[in-house]
Amino acid sequence: MQIDSSTPGVHPARLPLNQYDHNFCDSHASLNLAQAKIEADRCYYCFDAPCQTACPTGIDVPGFIRRIADDNIRGSADLILSANPLGGICARVCPTEVLCEQACVRNTGEDKPVEIGLLQRYATDKFFEMRGAPLFTRAASTGRKVAVVGAGPAGLACAHGLARLGHDVVLMDANPKLGGLNEYGLATYKTTNGFAQKEIDWLLSIGGIEVRNNTRLGTNVQLDTLTREFDAVFLGLGLAGVNAIGIEEPQAAGVRDAVEFIAELRQARAYSTVPVGRKVVVVGGGMTAVDAAVQSKKLGAQSVTIVYRRGSADMSASGYEQDWAQKNGVHIRHWATPKALLAESGRITGVQFGYTRVEGGKLLETGELFTLEADIVLKAIGQSFVAQPLGSTLELRQGRIVTDDEGRTSNAKVWAGGDCRLGGRDLTVEAVEHGKVAAQSIHAALSA
Ligand SMILES: Cc1cc2nc3c(=O)[nH]c(=O)nc-3n(C[C@H](O)[C@H](O)[C@H](O)COP(=O)(O)OP(=O)(O)OC[C@H]3O[C@@H](n4cnc5c(N)ncnc54)[C@H](O)[C@@H]3O)c2cc1C
Ligand code: SF4
Repeated sequence: MQIDSSTPGVHPARLPLNQYDHNFCDSHASLNLAQAKIEADRCYYCFDAPCQTACPTGIDVPGFIRRIADDNIRGSADLILSANPLGGICARVCPTEVLCEQACVRNTGEDKPVEIGLLQRYATDKFFEMRGAPLFTRAASTGRKVAVVGAGPAGLACAHGLARLGHDVVLMDANPKLGGLNEYGLATYKTTNGFAQKEIDWLLSIGGIEVRNNTRLGTNVQLDTLTREFDAVFLGLGLAGVNAIGIEEPQAAGVRDAVEFIAELRQARAYSTVPVGRKVVVVGGGMTAVDAAVQSKKLGAQSVTIVYRRGSADMSASGYEQDWAQKNGVHIRHWATPKALLAESGRITGVQFGYTRVEGGKLLETGELFTLEADIVLKAIGQSFVAQPLGSTLELRQGRIVTDDEGRTSNAKVWAGGDCRLGGRDLTVEAVEHGKVAAQSIHAALSA
């Protein structure tokens, strides 16, 4: 049977083989030298720069842009990476449209900010290409040992910060590869050519970080053992759970967690091997929903629809991301909630939705129903923290770990950061900042 985008059911290889590289190429071309110079020249090098204040890691934005203008790539990368040791991946995945670029004063005059994200990527990419002598070296050994559990952006940033300060770090992760969602979660077209692992290799090259993959807290190692054997512990466990869709799920093939689908794509030896439906329905309204929907389309699905229970302004995917989905042929339907998953002969055939509206501040169903055909339904209604590996040792609230601003938990030897910590925005750059600040706090505590 000849398979293409219109073939019913769920199939791999819906597209001609040469189409995949094109579909999954870098979503934003890098700037070349001339473009970088022109863009750098648009910066006013503001005093008390609002872009720097808006960056969760406080990168000296005017400083690194000036160094690009002066052809000083190493100096520019130094400013970026000393504030944000994952500045390369953040340049690719940060929602700059709601962070530094939203704050740029160029918005007022021209309605177009300096392209800070692209300039950051230019500086870090050029630096990683040439590298040369190490940018950072380890301080003299302190003889103190810290366990970092979870090697996502938070854990990696914490491990790097501690190693720089001279502490010995043991970095553990349940997964076979380091990186957390940088490796298993971000859309393929945001981080191409194995960039996430290249940056991690650079980060580990500082030395003093022993890596233990396939090591799960709660199974292979326990928190009370770590607090006994190490001087301090940092937890960067992310959100390992997936929220339920809230309606009965029939025993039928074709219903998947969007994060699991995205991870399969990121780890696939070839995109053509990943099966996708002819008609895909994604339930949710965040970045995960957008990434899963766009990538389904890029795999050759004929129709992909995101269905969200509220309006566009309420979606946690930014306006930029919603546009990106639509530009890639994804249809977004608002004000509808799933009521039933329809199945026949052990396979999903569609989803019945109920229309919603807000009345008196409450989300209500109108009683009207509609059905979308689907041979795959991707659930993207958010992730949750799995606290079970902690036992009952730490204070939790709203299902996440309670910390102070420095990441200190209710246990004096344990710090936490990133998505597992209460009160964050669940962004890569913020997880990096949590890890960085916790490293400084641990250092202060161990030096006291
Ligand atoms: C699909 C998707 C797309 C996203 N896209 C973006 C984006 O474009 N831009 C952006 O800024 N943010 C994005 N985010 C959010 C961003 O990825 C997270 O905020 C960030 O990765 C959080 O970092 P973290 O270190 O806290 O956790 P994670 O990256 O989740 O890392 C946690 C690590 O802990 C490990 N771990 C968990 N439990 C255990 C255990 N018991 N024992 C040992 N190890 C354990 C995991 O294996 C993992 O490696 C996205 C998230 C998702 C799900
Ligand atoms: S706000 Fe804009 S113009 Fe001012 S320093 Fe930042 S990037 Fe440059």
